[in-house]
Amino acid sequence: MAKEEKSIPDEPATKVNRRQFLKLGASTGIAMAAATAALEGGALVDPKQAYAGVIKTHDEIPYEIPADHKRYNQRNHMFGRARSGDPEVGKMAEHFLSHRFNGYEGVESPGYTVLDGAAARASFALDWYVNGENGSGNSNTGLYAWRPKLIDFLFRWGDPDRNIHSPGVKSPKEGTMAVKRMAKYFGAHSVGIAPYDERWIYTETFNGEAQKFTPPDFGFEPKHAIVMTIPMEYKGMSCAPTFLGSAEVGRAYNMCGVVAFSLSIFIKDLGYHAVAIGSDTSISIPQAIQAGLGELGRMGLLVTPDLGPSVRICKVFTDMPLNHDKPISFGVTEFCNSCKKCAELCPSQAISYDAQTTVGPSKISSASGVKKWYINPEKCWSCWGDDNVRSCCGACIAACPYTKPEGWHHTLVRSITGTPGLSPIMKNMDDLFGYGKLYNEQAATDWWKE
Ligand code: SF4
Ligand code: SF4
Repeated sequence: MAKEEKSIPDEPATKVNRRQFLKLGASTGIAMAAATAALEGGALVDPKQAYAGVIKTHDEIPYEIPADHKRYNQRNHMFGRARSGDPEVGKMAEHFLSHRFNGYEGVESPGYTVLDGAAARASFALDWYVNGENGSGNSNTGLYAWRPKLIDFLFRWGDPDRNIHSPGVKSPKEGTMAVKRMAKYFGAHSVGIAPYDERWIYTETFNGEAQKFTPPDFGFEPKHAIVMTIPMEYKGMSCAPTFLGSAEVGRAYNMCGVVAFSLSIFIKDLGYHAVAIGSDTSISIPQAIQAGLGELGRMGLLVTPDLGPSVRICKVFTDMPLNHDKPISFGVTEFCNSCKKCAELCPSQAISYDAQTTVGPSKISSASGVKKWYINPEKCWSCWGDDNVRSCCGACIAACPYTKPEGWHHTLVRSITGTPGLSPIMKNMDDLFGYGKLYNEQAATDWWKE
């Protein structure tokens, strides 16, 4: 990458050196106890899971949402604006698409070579070919068709009416067990169930079949949103914002389609209505939060307990009998208040350093209303098309202390992030171990060594 590497400003009051950190590691038990005390009332998660911290559950989504919250129209999304003929955004999109993942002959910067570009394009290819690029919000095509045209075999899968051959499940409990097991079987990393909440459904979505914006129309009334995370591996995401980081994003988008479509067919086979939804048709993050999969981070993405923001999200909307999960918190908001690492490393400075607000910086593309951190989508997009980037960036995901391989020090970081006063120290520990660089040349070199 030709851009200059940004340095992270020192915070002397909270700096620790590696020796101090290792010493602190010896007192992990003390830190864990402090964390437990600080988050009194929370329940420790299964110690066999990667996340060893404290998770609180909430009856309602723990964000300030105004009663008159307005639904978002996908025309206002950056991809939607490009499709609607917004001249400024259209120009940006055209420039980006003309040299996305282009590795130039003779350029040997790791992550930006001809080989790296081919890896990125191939990793996105299935989503582009089958779904017409659902990753950019294209709905109602390929695996995400609202009424998929499937061959009638033993079952009436292509029929929007229920499958008359199946008696369905015995109870919401059995239904919940079955869809969670099958979602993981098909490749989801985590799965939660939320009520179908119209607040997060686009008033209009780009309907790939009709090639125009239309209100979503599934042919049935969904009752639940089954929300699933698809993992993006650290080995790939640590290469962001190079082409190899984007390859990991593309691979996850492919998997989103496979997992959501397969689960929708499983549900239809049981005799219920179901539709696979990817990045289209609705805002994924509030649904994932409602389904208990994570919290919202400063960089505007879902932060999960064990993989941080290194996931993509897909959904299945259904009327099958299911039980709902509860939203969770595990200290992300408190940690983000002092961390700001993503904001510091964002090449286009699109991420806010300020406190949460209810109004986003983009007059058109910010879905304002909810109190949260907003990113500046115009600035983010300008980075993707930058001649030195030419990728889906993702540097904020690579930078985040929650996006790290397993190791005792990161388990510690994730475990005590909700503890008042310790968050700045934890962020500096992350820096100390050399994680979250803007351009990790070594990671991009090592990517090919397997
Ligand atoms: S994707 Fe890149 S430009 Fe966009 S917010 Fe993240 S770091 Fe910034
Ligand atoms: S990098 Fe830091 S501030 Fe940004 S989302 Fe991750 S924890 Fe929050």
